[in-house]
Amino acid sequence: MTDTTETTTSELPVVPHWIGGAERASTSGRTAPVHDPALGVVTKNVGLADRAEIDEAIASAAAAFPAWSQLSLARRQAVLFKFRELLDARKGELAEIITSEHGKVVSDALGEISRGQEVVEFATGLAHHLKGEFSDQVSTGVDVYSIREPLGVVGIVSPFNFPAMVPAWFFPIAIAAGNTVVLKPSEKDPSAALWLARLWKEAGLPDGVFNVLNGDKEAVDGLLTHPDVAAISFVGSTPIAKYVYETGTAHGKRVQALGGAKNHMLVLPDADLDLVADSAINAGFGSAGERCMAISVVVAVEPVADELVAKIAERAKGLRTGDGRRECDMGPLVTREHRDRVASYIDIAEQDGAEVVVDGRGIEVDGEAGGFWLGPTLIDRVPTSSRVYTDEIFGPVLAIVRVPSFDEGVALINSGAYGNGTAIFTNDGGAVRRFQREVKVGMIGINVPIPVPVATFSFGGWRESLFGDTKAHGAEGVRFYTQQKAITSRWLDPSHGGINLGFPENA
Ligand code: NAD
Repeated sequence: MTDTTETTTSELPVVPHWIGGAERASTSGRTAPVHDPALGVVTKNVGLADRAEIDEAIASAAAAFPAWSQLSLARRQAVLFKFRELLDARKGELAEIITSEHGKVVSDALGEISRGQEVVEFATGLAHHLKGEFSDQVSTGVDVYSIREPLGVVGIVSPFNFPAMVPAWFFPIAIAAGNTVVLKPSEKDPSAALWLARLWKEAGLPDGVFNVLNGDKEAVDGLLTHPDVAAISFVGSTPIAKYVYETGTAHGKRVQALGGAKNHMLVLPDADLDLVADSAINAGFGSAGERCMAISVVVAVEPVADELVAKIAERAKGLRTGDGRRECDMGPLVTREHRDRVASYIDIAEQDGAEVVVDGRGIEVDGEAGGFWLGPTLIDRVPTSSRVYTDEIFGPVLAIVRVPSFDEGVALINSGAYGNGTAIFTNDGGAVRRFQREVKVGMIGINVPIPVPVATFSFGGWRESLFGDTKAHGAEGVRFYTQQKAITSRWLDPSHGGINLGFPENA
């Protein structure tokens, strides 16, 4: 398939940056194409920042920091409340934008916005989480207390698969805590970030507190090395997460870098197989498998595999793949290259002796012929040595691995590189208890296939799914975006006195 529009893209609109409370057209001369994946055409370009634009965005955030960080908590929170109301009222607009650049179906786009909105709602109550500690009279006449202060300019670098939710894991808390932000969205679907920037302005956020810097590696490197950036929150693939963590920390920044995943669902023989099949379909093929919490491997403890595979296959064949604006179940993949890469794993599966039960290549779709389509694909008896098992495929390809026992299932889950999410399906409470204690994974679902914790908890995986020691949102998010001061105070009274060069002891 050739994309005839690629040759005429110079006439298309160019997505700008958002700096200092206004659009800022890129002048770097470098752009990247933005597709409508269901149409298979380039609909716009996005400007890619150069050094001058990177410096300008960071300078805008740095200039806004003193006033924003000194504003009272009550006034900062009033802006958060207004932002939440506007987002809730207008999220339909944002969902349309997401679908037009990412491809996910509109209801799924609305779902991701709602999960991001949860974090905004959490941040409206941040005053509670910013309370310090106080110890009265730790020594005679001496009190000790702590306060939490914002860091300064924080950079957020986000992936293509959640253009609204992932940035919203971070910016509400960063902003409510008094920081200023430079968001570098994915160049594949940059417009959601611009929409959010305009919404912040409408909500009354002072100019410069929230900036959007569009770009690629050059923009990310600019954030990672700039002396005026205090912290980086990154979400994306594991090799880039590792690079971001190493580079950012080498430049003295606080970094949390969330990476890739390969999430397993362990199915015990006593499980309700209809519930399991529904859950595997939802978690395997929702958003065309382009979710870091997608289930990509079903680990079936025998003897259930034959019956379970039949149930999943029957459901997979009934899914409607097509344009996300047409009430379909599953949309296209984000780019042609990504679709081709995902489809190549079906060839690999065949070469490695696995059994392709449902083949998503060449399916009929409810959409334009040039869209980046790949239908739901189910592959049984995947050898654990196959790249179909070991690689993060990030598409609608669900693998089945058969194991003889619970213990072998847990050992398999613990043997991989990633530790983002996992799920167990069973009615056996004892098995569940062992599972949650023994599995080396950051987020666990018990008869829940996509265990994304609510915003009051923190989101993040283990092992190669997270570099750094702090997860996103919840209490860990507050800790990440603030630094603590401990203050030891003594108000003079007549009992003080005397010179004493010894180390202060409490008495
Ligand atoms: P990606 O790693 O290609 O890109 C992520 C961000 O990094 C983008 O903003 C991109 O511009 C930037 N980037 C890309 N290459 C870079 C480089 N060489 N140097 C510096 N920056 C670079 O990821 P993606 O394809 O956009 O997103 C999919 C990946 O994100 C998957 O691996 C998925 O599992 C992961 N993800 C993880 C989570 C999580 O919570 N752990 C959540 C969502 C997505």
